[in-house]
Formats: sequence, C-alpha cells, structure tokens
Amino acid sequence: MSDVIERRSSGIPGDTTGFHQAVHSPGLAALDEIAATYSLENIHQLAEAGRQVIWGGRSWESPLVFACDTIPVAHDQLWATDSRRSEATAEDHFQVPGEFCSMIKAMIGRLHADRDRHIKKVLHFGSGCEPVNAVFELARRDGYDIHTIETVSAFTPEEKRPHAVAFLVRELHRVAVWLTGRPADEDRVAEEIRRKNSVIRKVKHLVELRAVHPFYVSASRTRQIFMGSMHGYGDLDAFGAALDLLIGELEALEPLPLPPSYIPLVIAGGVGNQRILDAIEESHGVIVGWVMNGTYEYREDVPPLESLAHYVLDAQGRGDLGEAVGASVSYRRTLVEEAVRRTGARGIVSASLIGCPYASMMQQLERDHFKQIGVPLIAIDTDVHREPPTEEQITRIKAFMEMLA
Ligand code: SF4
Repeated sequence: MSDVIERRSSGIPGDTTGFHQAVHSPGLAALDEIAATYSLENIHQLAEAGRQVIWGGRSWESPLVFACDTIPVAHDQLWATDSRRSEATAEDHFQVPGEFCSMIKAMIGRLHADRDRHIKKVLHFGSGCEPVNAVFELARRDGYDIHTIETVSAFTPEEKRPHAVAFLVRELHRVAVWLTGRPADEDRVAEEIRRKNSVIRKVKHLVELRAVHPFYVSASRTRQIFMGSMHGYGDLDAFGAALDLLIGELEALEPLPLPPSYIPLVIAGGVGNQRILDAIEESHGVIVGWVMNGTYEYREDVPPLESLAHYVLDAQGRGDLGEAVGASVSYRRTLVEEAVRRTGARGIVSASLIGCPYASMMQQLERDHFKQIGVPLIAIDTDVHREPPTEEQITRIKAFMEMLA
C-alpha cells in the first residue's frame, strides 16, 4: 500500500498552509493497512480457521478478553456492511418499527443473517442500552451464546464501594471461565492492561499534537484512531507502531498559527458519517476537542481485574464511554464543557443517532445547558448507514459555521 496520502484542500482561496498537496505519511498509511485487516469478512475467516472470536468485549473489558486468547469484535462491525439489508430484516422479520434506532436494527438483522457462521458467542455488559439487551435476547433464539456481565453502577466516587468492585471482579472471572473454562490468568490480564495503557498514552499524545496541527490528521482519521484506541483493530502492537510513526511526523512539524478564518469546535459523540465531518472541515471548522471514547488509562497500582472494575465504574461517574457502560445521560455535557474551556472552542457539534431515546435526552440536556452558558451548539442526528448526509444536514452545518464566523 502506498504511504502517500492525498489531503483535501483547506478550502480557503490562496491558503498556503500546504494541506492541499500529496504528502508522505507513513503513519496514516500504516493505520490504513491495519484498519483494512479489520473487515468483518477477515474476522469471520479467523473464526473459521479455529480462532476464538466473540462479538463485543472490545471496550473497557478488552484486556481480559485478549488475555483469554480471544479476539473481540467491535459491535460497529455489525453495521459496517450491508446495513440497509440488515435493517430490512429487522423491520420485516422482527417487526421492529421503522423509526427505531438504526444501530439496533442493523445489529439484530446482521446477527440473524450470520446465525449459521462461526462467531456464535456474544459478550454483553448489562449496564448498557436496554434495546441492545433485547437484541441479544432475540439472538439467543438464533442459537447465539450470550454472556451478560451482571451490572453494578457508581455515578459518584462515593458510590464506588469495595463490594461493587469485588462484585465486578467475580463477574470478570466468570467471563474468563466462559471463554477458557478457567478463572482469569491475572498475570496475562496485567500484561494486556500495560499494552493497552501504552496505546492509550500514545492516542492521548497524538490528540494533543493534533490540537496544534489540526489539519495534518483529518477529523475522520482522528475518529478512526479513537476507535482503534479501544480495540487496536485486533492488533494493539501494530496499531501502537502506526501511532508512533504518526506522532513522529507531527512532532517534526513547525507549529503554525490557525488561519483566523478557522473556527475551533468541540465534537461530542461519534459522528459516524465521514461526509458530515468533511462538511464541518470544508466550512472552516477545526475540531480541536473530542468527547468520544476516553483517553483515560487503567490503574496499574491494583490487581488487574480490580483495575478493570475501577475503569468501568470511573467511566460511569465521568460520563465517559456513554450508554455502553450505562453512564448517566446528564454527564456528557460536563466533559464537553471541560473540552470547550480547555480548547477555547467557539461552538459544539453534538451528535446522536436518530431514534435513540438515550441520546435524544442527552442532546436536549446539552442544548439547554449550553444555551444557558452561551456556547453555540448544533445537534446532528445521523444513522449507521454509509450514505452521504442529506442536503438539509449539510446546509444546517454550513449555516451554523457561518453564524460562528
Ligand atoms: S444508539 Fe441508543 S438505542 Fe441505539 S443502541 Fe445506542 S443507546 Fe441503544
């Protein structure tokens, strides 16, 4: 694969910042290469060749799953391809209403379509979204082996009591028994935590460097990196090596001031549609802060399974990792506000999925809060499909950017 990446023009007539030329980026090329190996079909082939592969387990719990010689597959692969067909299956076969969350429909449709393939285990955290629980209950009828991590919640540091941590540790041992027939090998989990922490530190450093050179790595590439910070595209070491290359490239650049016509923004949530991110950048928006998957490290000063328990309970308390860990709808705005203050952003793009009861509540709370403190916010609703955004969405984004200019 070529290591020459074509960057888009900055869009400013006479802009000589140099982002409109082909540049040599071994780091981005290496990321491309790793991401390409993470296709659903490749993952199915690994399962067919005898590797243990499961749906889920790629988030806070991934060090344990890797330590059990298991490949965790991110749920987003369930809608990575043929999502419209999956959605049609959900609506026709399972009678899910058309207006419901496209993620749910794509998940249930894809699991049904793949019911005779090799990936038959699903790991699920009980604190997550309730409709996802329903999806997995239905998948059970299609022969899937669903393992649910029973849940505890701690929305404040005081609620993170020792018995909650101990309960989760027992639950994590249960996961290991489900995957390997034995309790967890704690030395291996500790090793996986160290590997993941090393990647998280790199992502964090890269995000800091990107704040100084926001055009070198586009918004959609940054999103790809955040996704990798959780699962490393199945190969944390290769992902870490690609990050090293990219960090080296960014460190070698001369810091340039942002052209005055650029508008710094914070983005909240995972805007899955690349064209929306492109439209923001084409309208001179520069995403300088992200509230997506966190860049928090795991503790290494406690036994490894306790470290995982602390991680998920702390994420709930921060509002980090969102509905996947059962974080409160009211917390994301705190992280967004922190990012706005830290970066000096002039506006917020708040993303959610159409038909998601959780996200629509969160967005409304964000709208009210940021209106009150005088930070402009645009709420963007998307779905999981790959089609370009509608003209109306692009027009709204451009109007928002004009208002901020
Ligand atoms: S987008 Fe909302 S409804 Fe859909 S899976 Fe996520 S939390 Fe559940």
